[in-house]
Amino acid sequence: MHVILMGPQGSGKGTQAERLLPRLGLVSIATGELFRNAARLGTPLGLRAKSLMDRGELVPDDVTIGLVEEKLDALGVLRSRDPAVLGALYDGFPRTEAQARALDDALGRRSERVDSVVLIDVPRERLVERLAGRRVCANGGHVYHTVFNPPKVEGVCDICGAPLVQRADDTPDAVRRRLETYFRTTEPLLAFYRGRGLLKTVDGDAPIDEVTEAIVRAVQPVPSGAGRVG
Ligand SMILES: [Zn+2]
Repeated sequence: MHVILMGPQGSGKGTQAERLLPRLGLVSIATGELFRNAARLGTPLGLRAKSLMDRGELVPDDVTIGLVEEKLDALGVLRSRDPAVLGALYDGFPRTEAQARALDDALGRRSERVDSVVLIDVPRERLVERLAGRRVCANGGHVYHTVFNPPKVEGVCDICGAPLVQRADDTPDAVRRRLETYFRTTEPLLAFYRGRGLLKTVDGDAPIDEVTEAIVRAVQPVPSGAGRVG
């Protein structure tokens, strides 16, 4: 089973990914993690990715896809030893239609395919509220939220007593701009998977447990012969 998890910053995607991995028996394929691990292991692709990132450059698709393929090979070995491992959950990859096609090819060579693409959908203004409520302490970087995780005393860090500040990129305007960019660049990818009938949308503006259950239901294979409702 290969499941791609999508959602903007503030959608709770990272939290859901952590819950889904053990629940669905999947291993994580997240590009940031792939880059860090490959660099640590010192593989040729990992060293190339690291040198690009150290220079502040984007890692090109061929390197990213090469790392994903290495991970798929490792997954194949793992699955041959551990029947509890059923596949992979992708987070942060693919980002573009070109990467999506490359993933299709890579899986096709292994007689596998993408089974589901799940979008965690949260209304844009709710995302702004979630992200713009973030406050960090000026001293230790301890993180709070004005609504969801407020400090005991307003504007003061519980842990170290330093004043809480809003980062420049967490203001409502900055958050709206960031989300605008995300939706603009992601829409072609969503359209690609929608066109293949793989895209499933879950309501991300619900309690964390409910979102997890909705995703689990969304990725379960439809029994053959069963009618689809809706
Ligand atoms: Zn603090």
